[in-house]
Amino acid sequence: MRVLALHPDVILLSSNIWQTNCVVIRGGDECFVVDSPVLPDELEALPSLLEQSGFSLSGLLATHADWDHLLGRLAFPGAALGCAETTAARLRAEPGQAQRELRAFDEAHYIKRARPLTLGSVQALPVPGQCEIGPHEVGLLAAEGHTADGMAIHVPWAQILICGDYLSEVEIPVLGEGGSPEAYAATLERLRPLVAQAQFVVSGHGPVLGSEQALSVLDEDLAYLEALSALGASAELPDGRRSKAQRTIHAENLARI
Ligand SMILES: [Zn+2]
Repeated sequence: MRVLALHPDVILLSSNIWQTNCVVIRGGDECFVVDSPVLPDELEALPSLLEQSGFSLSGLLATHADWDHLLGRLAFPGAALGCAETTAARLRAEPGQAQRELRAFDEAHYIKRARPLTLGSVQALPVPGQCEIGPHEVGLLAAEGHTADGMAIHVPWAQILICGDYLSEVEIPVLGEGGSPEAYAATLERLRPLVAQAQFVVSGHGPVLGSEQALSVLDEDLAYLEALSALGASAELPDGRRSKAQRTIHAENLARI
């Protein structure tokens, strides 16, 4: 796991699996962990990492309900999980789904975990809206189109935008269950003004980006989504994201539209 301080109040933890990003945000005496790393040793390291940084956990936040972003409670079993109302609805509609997908991943990679995943009390947050962290507020924006649910989190005092599975430099747009190219493109346009002002843009997967890099990913992703709708299979993938894995995602996207 890579650990990077983006701001005195913001730490980025990047998992060795899929470069899945987890962000720790402090505001005064409060601290929230957004999304999660994936591997057991990475999750085990989280509590002491917070302690060393002088942060004490107030709660967990999740950008969306895909299982690889929901593992915070394996590190902090008692913590409450806050998410968008759309995500809370999805978790209610598909009970046990995240646990099943986690189990399938663990079985495929011979991973043993000390305890099973329970999501505990899930708090639905109004989106768009604000969430207080100590003396500060983070902004919550709807971020749908990758899946049917989700939110992006804007940390204005650190000029950081945490966008969930959008604006990844390593992954083309993924249309999961409930996703659509139109909703995905609308989310990108909603994020654009904040991306333009951000110091750092943190995607669900891949390296943290500066504003200019993130804007060029945004435009590449819009072009891809448009081509996907217009041309289907022959849509060209963004430059630098044409590996076999990305072509597999492209084929899965085609099956969704
Ligand atoms: Zn993801």
